Amino acid sequence: MILTSLMLVFLNSYSAKTTRDLIYRANEASLQDKVQLITSSFSGLEALSSDNINQVISVLGDLNVSRVVITDGEGRALYDSLAQRSAVGQYVLLREAAEALAGQDVFYCSYADGLLISQAAAPIMLYGSPIGCVYIADVNRDQGAIIQALEVNILRISFGVEAVLVLFSALYAFSTSRKMRQIIASMQRAREGEYSHKIQVHGTDEYAALAQEFNKLTDRLQVSEQAQRQFVSDASHELKTPLASIKLLSDSILQNEMDAETMREFVTDIGSEADRLTRLAQKLLAISRAESVKQDHEVVDLAQTIGKVFKMLVSLADEREIRLTCAMDKGCTVMTVEDDMYQIIFNLVENAIKYNNSGGQVHVRLSREDDDVVIAVEDTGIGIPEDAVDHIFERFYRVDKARSRQAGGSGLGLSIVRELVLRNYGEISVSRRDQGGTCFTVRFPRFEVEVEP
Ligand code: ADP
Repeated sequence: MILTSLMLVFLNSYSAKTTRDLIYRANEASLQDKVQLITSSFSGLEALSSDNINQVISVLGDLNVSRVVITDGEGRALYDSLAQRSAVGQYVLLREAAEALAGQDVFYCSYADGLLISQAAAPIMLYGSPIGCVYIADVNRDQGAIIQALEVNILRISFGVEAVLVLFSALYAFSTSRKMRQIIASMQRAREGEYSHKIQVHGTDEYAALAQEFNKLTDRLQVSEQAQRQFVSDASHELKTPLASIKLLSDSILQNEMDAETMREFVTDIGSEADRLTRLAQKLLAISRAESVKQDHEVVDLAQTIGKVFKMLVSLADEREIRLTCAMDKGCTVMTVEDDMYQIIFNLVENAIKYNNSGGQVHVRLSREDDDVVIAVEDTGIGIPEDAVDHIFERFYRVDKARSRQAGGSGLGLSIVRELVLRNYGEISVSRRDQGGTCFTVRFPRFEVEVEP
């Protein structure tokens, strides 16, 4: 818009200048012709005098100009077409006449107060030197009026364009400041926690893009706030159950007369509920660590990590009469956080033991597939029902609450696993084995370590 207006003004002033130049040039040609006509009429005369000049001029007839002056070689006027204020006998103090007497053909054109004044002069030569000069002046009111009209036109257009520009700028400033105020107000509402509020987006400018980004941000905040609220309510619910058991057991001990054996049983139950609380607190801490703490990456050989996990879980497997086996390829290295890898494998193997049948088996396969390292944890256990497969990675989800609780579970293990896998650029999937049992598969990009020869 601004560019178009400026171009309009430029085109107008350019066309006005061109028109003025054309008028000047037409005048120059006409006056030069007339000057040449007069000077050529004097060729052959040995000297200039008022008489022979008057004769020549009368032969030429009406030249249709405002004034004709003819001077001798010193610049004194011998002829002047003006009847009043005639310069005859006086020195002509005109720049054009002086330049003509110096041997030049000159033409000047000027415009002032609605009048176009054109002046031309040329020397009258005899044997190569000037013996006088012819000066012609023409004052043209019609052409002056054309130029004046053009200038007025430009002035009007410039004013018009400027007014449009000022109006447009004011409107633009008003609209942008309104949009900005709207965005600031929405930000203030979001700061107060009102994430459901959205900015109405119109147009495609930077403000619309900013509003869109703001809406996306509040959407995310709303989702994460909801998830946080859900998590806190689930966590408190989980904490409440063992606390209620502890309260119930301790009340029973206080209120009832019981023998030492029964009391011992109750106190043991209190102890195992306290253990459950501790495990829950540990899992909650692991979640917050997975979400927030960024740890250094290092080259990790997953075969070693699996070895460490087995070492930790072998006694639990023995206790449940589960056989722990593994098959591992060499060179399964990844660039990752060792603690994360340990936690992932530990949780999967621990589940495979917990949800297994006595005499069952847990087999861990570590292999290289193309550019990936794949860990598969297979068990011959109770399996996961079809309709539960999509939910097992959700926080606090348990297929069989009683069995999970009995096994010391909290419903948080797999959600931690998924969080850590994604954080380390991996993928996780679960499948039901045809022969019964479950297989969890985790895949990470392999990090090639150069082996020294
Ligand atoms: P929990 O602490 O209850 O074990 P997880 O998040 O680790 O919580 O697991 C969620 C649920 O998924 C478990 O309660 C259990 O029902 C099911 N599950 C996990 N691993 C296995 C498995 N290997 N075999 C059968 N069920 C499993």
